[in-house]
Amino acid sequence: MDFLPFTRPSIDEDTIAAVGDVLRSGWITTGPKSRELEAALSAYVGGRPVRVVTSATAALEMALRIAGVQPGDEVITCPLSWAATANVILTVGATPVFVDADPVTRNIDLNKVEAAITAKTRAIIPVDLAGLPVDRDRLYDIAGRHGLRVIEDAAQSMGANWNGRAIGSFGDLVSFSFHANKNMTSGEGGCLVLNNDDEARLFEKLRLQGVTRFADGTMDVDVLGGKANMTDIAAVIGLHQLKKLDGFNERRRELARLYFEHFDKSLGCELPPADFEQSNWHMFQPLLPLAKMSISRAEFIDSLKAEGVGVGVHYPAMHLFTLFRAMGFAEGDFPHAEDIGRRTVTLPLFPAMQDADVIRVCQAVSRVLRPALK
Ligand SMILES: *Cc1c(COP(=O)(O)O)cnc(C)c1O
Repeated sequence: MDFLPFTRPSIDEDTIAAVGDVLRSGWITTGPKSRELEAALSAYVGGRPVRVVTSATAALEMALRIAGVQPGDEVITCPLSWAATANVILTVGATPVFVDADPVTRNIDLNKVEAAITAKTRAIIPVDLAGLPVDRDRLYDIAGRHGLRVIEDAAQSMGANWNGRAIGSFGDLVSFSFHANKNMTSGEGGCLVLNNDDEARLFEKLRLQGVTRFADGTMDVDVLGGKANMTDIAAVIGLHQLKKLDGFNERRRELARLYFEHFDKSLGCELPPADFEQSNWHMFQPLLPLAKMSISRAEFIDSLKAEGVGVGVHYPAMHLFTLFRAMGFAEGDFPHAEDIGRRTVTLPLFPAMQDADVIRVCQAVSRVLRPALK
């Protein structure tokens, strides 16, 4: 049987042909396709301004700058995320303040956020891990009462919703990723949903050298910008993916349901919350019953690979990375994030999977785990 990776992008022939058209058009950097993608994304999030860039990392960093986050400021986030979430806080010279994960949702524990707020706190970066949205009502209630900006790291939750409202269609600054593994891709890329045209204009400057161009052909630079503008080659891929996003997510939800049906509950794994309304099922991640296992997670992953099933790890708690340990973070600081980070495995889940693939994965998990239970 073919090797089943934990994820794989769905790129159709129309998309490939459209990339060819862009390449033949004579205009391959930022141009009409990028503007078209921005308009389509804006329509998707209910008309709010959206600007595209080369990555969600760039979008998050510029969002922090737009929110006025400066050296000396503190930004609250959760250690259970991709490294980008905290790296961007350091990039703008601010201090990451971690808050532990909720053991059930695996997202930032909103019960613990207020205790982490100080006079220096400027913003919160919530992360919708695996596409399960953080409680937006409670999040914005806390932010509002403390006068904090919110930069939603919605890299994984494109197409998810909170109480029926699309993520990105409300709230403060919202960042999505179009990395190859995300629910929609442009190869690499990302975007930021902004509050108004002034923020959008500042974002445009930040993404391309701070330049403003005038109608008479002159230009000015009044802010330090970088280089993060999206190519039209990437944008046209994004345009085609966006059209299929809701269908992709519907298929992901079906596959996730199948996992819940076929996963052997007697193995002692902790399954993610069974949310088929709000989550976009970016990933399906059981937590291994490590304390009851005679093999390590690494051995479990190797054995599944030998069975033809790819497994990912998203993510180890990042405060235990060398960079953050050097800042004083240590084992035991965020016990839930650490526990989840040690036990989590990402099983295959992507729209092109067949129903039978889910059953095959569940059977492979049982074959590997059952004999390894103490
Ligand atoms: C993918 C991801 C990012 C970064 O996205 P890029 O487009 O790769 O920069 C940030 N945060 C989370 C939670 C992600 O999953």
